[in-house]
Amino acid sequence: MGAPFTMNPLPYAEDALSPVISAQTLGFHYGKHHTTYLNTLNKLVENDPLKEKSIEEIVKATAGKEDKRTIFNNAAQVWNHDFYWRSLRPNGGGKPSGRIGEMIKDSFGDYDKFKSELANAATTQFGSGWAWLCLEGGKLTVRKTPNAENPLHLNGVKALLTIDVWEHAYYLDYQNRRVDHVNATIDKLLNWEFAEKNLG
Ligand code: FE
Repeated sequence: MGAPFTMNPLPYAEDALSPVISAQTLGFHYGKHHTTYLNTLNKLVENDPLKEKSIEEIVKATAGKEDKRTIFNNAAQVWNHDFYWRSLRPNGGGKPSGRIGEMIKDSFGDYDKFKSELANAATTQFGSGWAWLCLEGGKLTVRKTPNAENPLHLNGVKALLTIDVWEHAYYLDYQNRRVDHVNATIDKLLNWEFAEKNLG
């Protein structure tokens, strides 16, 4: 705990999510984008008491504070990407069974309604941001957030899965076709075991 922070390793090989996410995309995304957020965060907190805290604590402590905006953006982007890598897995996606499958039925009616709600959030997030599956008051919900924002600091909201919809997440593979990337991610990559674990 505390800075300097180091990169958590990817939970799979860089080519493991291909062809939905190519090794080239994953290599740049993890090795350049994610790593740059982490290196920038380390520099920003070098002389700040926040450096004693965990990344999650830094995100919560700086959310909504205008004078800490840059620290928030970089800390949240590190947290979001770590969460995103674990939200995906090779041979994932599709309709889940078990407890989360039941909750999808309870909360959205059926899997197709859930899928269209999540895909809609991911494709209508204007500009950069994230789409989330969350747990709120015992029900599953879908949210979208701009830029580095995430649900970490929202009372009573627990993130279960996320999809990165910044252009750097898909542009090399899908160019402007965010909708195709999002649908393929939902169909083939979502890590339902991770979501189920996050239910607690
Ligand atoms: Fe990203």
